[in-house]
Amino acid sequence: MIPTLRSSSLLDRQSQKRADAAYLAALAERDDARFMLLVGHKPVIVSNEARTEAALRWLRAAELADAGLPLDAPFFLGVDRESGAGRFALTFTEHHLNSIPLALGLSRPAVDLRALAMQGVMSSEELSLAGLAKALEHWHQSARCCGRCGGQTRPRDGGWRRSCWACGGDLFPRTDPVVIMLVEHPDRRSCLLGRSGRFAPGMFSTLAGFVEPGEDIADAVRREVMEEAGVEVGEVAFHSAQPWPFPHSLMIGCIAQATTTALTIDPEELEEARWFARDEVCQLLEGSHPGGLTGPGRQAIARVLLRAFLERDA
Ligand SMILES: [Zn+2]
Repeated sequence: MIPTLRSSSLLDRQSQKRADAAYLAALAERDDARFMLLVGHKPVIVSNEARTEAALRWLRAAELADAGLPLDAPFFLGVDRESGAGRFALTFTEHHLNSIPLALGLSRPAVDLRALAMQGVMSSEELSLAGLAKALEHWHQSARCCGRCGGQTRPRDGGWRRSCWACGGDLFPRTDPVVIMLVEHPDRRSCLLGRSGRFAPGMFSTLAGFVEPGEDIADAVRREVMEEAGVEVGEVAFHSAQPWPFPHSLMIGCIAQATTTALTIDPEELEEARWFARDEVCQLLEGSHPGGLTGPGRQAIARVLLRAFLERDA
């Protein structure tokens, strides 16, 4: 079972060539170079009439130039593994685009990435490329000033580095590790799910939390489960991981074994948590729960962990 969002295998990121500005400029000028647009953090797509299938809209440099869209400092996503053609992303605010009338036809519709992922209408490869561009954009917006001296920074290396004008220090895109864990009851016939106040009504999912400095993955799982639900965890096994560009996390999926069962819920973190038996987990995933409860969205690694739980004892 593969999460919907995963790192793209279509492109070679060519991380060793990002610092070569002449190489990137030559790639961007080739006829086969293609550019995706993010407008107000949303990827511009094409879709069929029924909106059941969507793809990123990849534009040529000439189309962008004809529309008056500047090609300044595009993010370098990589090259197509087969053709060697460069793939780039350009980001605009809606306000900026509204000042370029010719560009409007090229830049619509722009659709929220999370909604695209939830609807399952776009390939995981393209979702992951849009997610990469969105994560980079978010980082650039939050790294305009140098953390050491407060000087202004400017983008380098196809968007993969920012350098400070004043002190010369470098900043690199960040990824925040998050543990997300399926906690098995000691009898292994049920698992612990909770709902945060941010969830849609009736939705339950696995517990999750950020890894803190100085923690390993298993420590973070044990701490989060204890803090949120008051349950002690023994063994922790890594299951799978998923990039999650909202805005720039890496979800580290684990299967954890509870050694206690009484729940003490932290109301700051969770509205509710309880043990769900296997047949109830099935109902959550199938959308057939008699109480109208629902499970995690189909793009989410939490769903992969729930399926793994069902398959373990099957
Ligand atoms: Zn500085």
